[in-house]
Amino acid sequence: MVSMHGVQKWFGDLHVLQDIELDVARGEVVVVIGPSGSGKSTLCRAINRLETIQEGEIRVDGNVLPEEGKELAGLRSDVGMVFQSFNLFAHKTVLENVTLGPIKVRKKSKAEADKRGMELLERVGIDSQASKVPSQLSGGQQQRVAIARALAMDPKVMLFDEPTSALDPEMIKEVLDTMVDLAKGGMTMIVVTHEMGFARTAADRVLFMADGRIVEENTPDEFFTNPKSDRAKDFLAKIL
Ligand code: ATP
Ligand code: MG
Repeated sequence: MVSMHGVQKWFGDLHVLQDIELDVARGEVVVVIGPSGSGKSTLCRAINRLETIQEGEIRVDGNVLPEEGKELAGLRSDVGMVFQSFNLFAHKTVLENVTLGPIKVRKKSKAEADKRGMELLERVGIDSQASKVPSQLSGGQQQRVAIARALAMDPKVMLFDEPTSALDPEMIKEVLDTMVDLAKGGMTMIVVTHEMGFARTAADRVLFMADGRIVEENTPDEFFTNPKSDRAKDFLAKIL
């Protein structure tokens, strides 16, 4: 569903993505972990061309995303993205946040988009908040709106970049539970997170990144109990 081959990216002199080879199968859940600055966010952003790459190839469901233009908008919406900061439209209601993309990009009717929007809000457990604006919601609720908004575009893959790291502890679980449901429902997911519980429950594979490289990949159980590289051992010693 997502493939990256020979991917290289530099920011000036900094080689942020080095020889990236990655194939994520349909329905697979891949957790990406690694120290700050190792290139995790850049990897995610490269997948939907929020960052350009200098070498290599990235495909989503077989398609290479073009650099710009109308076609990019269409293909980009195949990739749902949820960030640490929720990036909701502050002056729109929760439901409008979810229906805007389907109406504008997918050309759905308002009625159709509203119906599906409400179904998605129900799925993430906040349908009762539909007519509020984001500032009236808790952080965990806002993040679930962001997830519903991404799902409304019927993405083929969902990318999550530290979706719970800006949340108060008591709100982390509700967001992780939503993500676990999504994973169990067969969504293809790439998730940057240091939440080991999520990785153990939902991930098929853990990638460990350091200095722009995928240094190690393994099943969550193997990775957490028996990391192979010194970099991974050091990192796990710090966070566990
Ligand atoms: P964190 O865990 O802190 O989120 P990360 O693994 O997501 O880190 P990236 O954000 O991908 O790391 O950054 C990788 C490297 O690229 C870092 O050294 C960062 O400073 C650098 N970098 C990121 N964005 C830019 C940019 N727009 N211009 C220049 N350098 C950048
Ligand atoms: Mg990051």
